[in-house]
Amino acid sequence: DQPQRLSKVLAAAGVASRRSSEELILEGRVTVNGSVCNTPQTRVDPTKDIIYVNGNRLPKRLPPKVYLALNKPKGYICSAGAKESKSVLELFNDYLKSWSKWNPGVPKPRLFTVGRLDVATTGLIIVTNDGDFAQHISHPSSNLTKEYLAAVEGEVHKRHLMAISEGTAIDGVHCTPESVELLPRQLDMPRLRLRIVVHEGRNHEVRELVKNAGLEIYSLKRVRIGGFRLPTDLRLGKHIELKPADLRALG
Ligand code: URA
Repeated sequence: DQPQRLSKVLAAAGVASRRSSEELILEGRVTVNGSVCNTPQTRVDPTKDIIYVNGNRLPKRLPPKVYLALNKPKGYICSAGAKESKSVLELFNDYLKSWSKWNPGVPKPRLFTVGRLDVATTGLIIVTNDGDFAQHISHPSSNLTKEYLAAVEGEVHKRHLMAISEGTAIDGVHCTPESVELLPRQLDMPRLRLRIVVHEGRNHEVRELVKNAGLEIYSLKRVRIGGFRLPTDLRLGKHIELKPADLRALG
């Protein structure tokens, strides 16, 4: 293996995020081959160098990169810590519990979400332990579009659709969707649905676009990121592993 930055190795080993790993190193809590190493940039090879963090030996093997697509239910937030709210990461407890059974001797991956969905939003969210991949998908230069289905209260008129297309200011930046379309009324659904495709995905962007047009959102679901569509048979709270072709569709 090629030597890699110490901070990156700690993050890949699941010790902490890249940022917090750098802090651990700067605080002098990491030793390499017997001496304290204060420089996160130091290149190490976890299969050869002996690394301790807070007195615990870092495993020689790094967890493999995992890429999962979750159908997020309502009522879960997309960050780890908050005590009052349930995190989507709890939906992976069983996956992580059975990890060692399927991957004996391999450290567990430290999972996080790629971007976020609001607590009330359902649908597609990618969960991974690959920070580079997450950054790449989230970066505006990747130009990935995201498709949402919004069920709204009441009737929808041309003026509503025009107002949504014209966009609105969010955090001082004018945001316009890539497209908005009214779906044909479905007999088994009491509410009309809009298909809204956006580029950047600022905080609450879709909700703001719809609200600004004078419509009230009943529910919001993300169904696609880039070329990857949420499988229609994936139940809420369940996930699948992404295949190489899926990852290319996200690239
Ligand atoms: N836009 C929103 O308003 N909410 C989401 O969860 C995602 C995009």
